Amino acid sequence: MLLAAALFLTAFANQAFFRNLTTAFADTPWGLLHVFSLAVVLLCATVLLLAMLAYRPLLKPMLVILFMVAAVSAYFMDTFNVIIDHDMLANVMATDSAETGDLLTPKLFWYLGLLGLLPSLLLWRIRIRPASPAKALGSRLLLAGGALLIMLALVLISSAFYAAFVREHKELRYYANPATPMYAGYKYIKSRIKTGPVHLAAIGEDARIPEQDIDRELVIMVVGETARADRFSLNGYERETNPELARHDVISFTDVSSCGTSTAISVPCMFDIYDKDEFSTSKTQATENSLDVLRHAGVTVLWRDNNSNSKGVADRTPIEDFRSPENNPVCDTECRDVGMLSGLREYIDQQESGDILIVLHQMGSHGPAYFKRYPSEFHVFVPTCDTNQLENCSASEIGNAYDNSILYTDHFLSQVIGLLRSYDDQFETAMLYASDHGESLGESGVYLHGLPYWLAPDAQTQVPVIMWFGRNYHDVDVSAMQQLREEPLSHDNLFHTLLGLFEINSGVYDGSKDLLQKSRDLAGTPSLYD
Ligand SMILES: [Zn+2]
Repeated sequence: MLLAAALFLTAFANQAFFRNLTTAFADTPWGLLHVFSLAVVLLCATVLLLAMLAYRPLLKPMLVILFMVAAVSAYFMDTFNVIIDHDMLANVMATDSAETGDLLTPKLFWYLGLLGLLPSLLLWRIRIRPASPAKALGSRLLLAGGALLIMLALVLISSAFYAAFVREHKELRYYANPATPMYAGYKYIKSRIKTGPVHLAAIGEDARIPEQDIDRELVIMVVGETARADRFSLNGYERETNPELARHDVISFTDVSSCGTSTAISVPCMFDIYDKDEFSTSKTQATENSLDVLRHAGVTVLWRDNNSNSKGVADRTPIEDFRSPENNPVCDTECRDVGMLSGLREYIDQQESGDILIVLHQMGSHGPAYFKRYPSEFHVFVPTCDTNQLENCSASEIGNAYDNSILYTDHFLSQVIGLLRSYDDQFETAMLYASDHGESLGESGVYLHGLPYWLAPDAQTQVPVIMWFGRNYHDVDVSAMQQLREEPLSHDNLFHTLLGLFEINSGVYDGSKDLLQKSRDLAGTPSLYD
């Protein structure tokens, strides 16, 4: 019965899903075969959903609910091409009766009748022979296990296609009916149950800059995007991808693991006090981060973003958006990271006293359209993959486009250093660069990033981290720091290193994780904090 119900729903309640799918993939090689493969995956997913929700005493009522939800959702998706997600449900709940009246059309009743009532009536007439609990459980596990295995097999067989499906056509899976409306309903109810605003826990309110530190610090932290450590020639990559940084006296740490494999996990984790093992999005959102601690100590903080957003990190920090020509003067096909340096000199000059931290959040090497991530003068490694349909390119074309984007990041970081260098007489200057996560470039058929950490290859989790210090930056022994280059480090070091860069005294500071303090320990120079 579950299988029959799933077949019915897949075949008749997913017109919008298949229409959008065919539009997106019909012209690609093997397009129709991929559409068929996705149809089977959708069927298996629906079987899994039914097997999870419809248990024996609730079997019939639950299936009736699913048919009705699917019928109404199918009507709206087919007719208006909308997606039934959490926000849409919230909109529906806020709809008044006059607006609802406008939505009640004869077509809706046809949908309800044919896709909801008809299968429900048929279902109600079927008599189910009771089986022993053990047998019932066994056959259900067999059904769910079978569905899961078929799904996994299909996804593995054409992983490049599924990577494209998930990444570039994110919207398509929201048309999966009734899985998406059911999930949206669950999320909506959950969000209604959760009461009250998130209470933000303050940390590091005791943070102070020691009185003997009279020099002003100017630090630029660059949050990289999708850069992998092994594609930096500073870390031993045979291609010259760091020609500009190689001319500066930088320290490039070669063995740094990221906190997550996606921007949404890694970026908050790079600034929060929690270690990777303790990280959770809700905990991080409810706790102040390193930027807050620096502000408690009187540091002026600015966040400039050429990526999506700060993922909540800069919620209490001034943010400037550089993704449009309004703020960013360096835009061709898209706004460039280098544009984030524009007007920075005026900003720095305006700050009459105290220390300054500027965070620059890069667009970096964001995929899959690597070829869009650099201006034409960085079109050095050729031929490149000039489409976001990675499955249509060779490994070397993808690698060339990606390496060009690293070359551009090399140029950008070098420009950052150039700006800082011009302030050497007024400030103790330093740059800290760290990428959020790496990227799979087709190795073993894996593309992009975001795999569960335990499953993710090093390509996704080993990130470049680079530091540079200006001529007048005291209390750092660059040659001692170079000895730390190959030590295993992680994003967990960033919170304390950021505080260490400003010589912050606070209960939340842990010198054993601060790269500056670690290098002082190594060189045997006395701690700043004794
Ligand atoms: Zn990212």
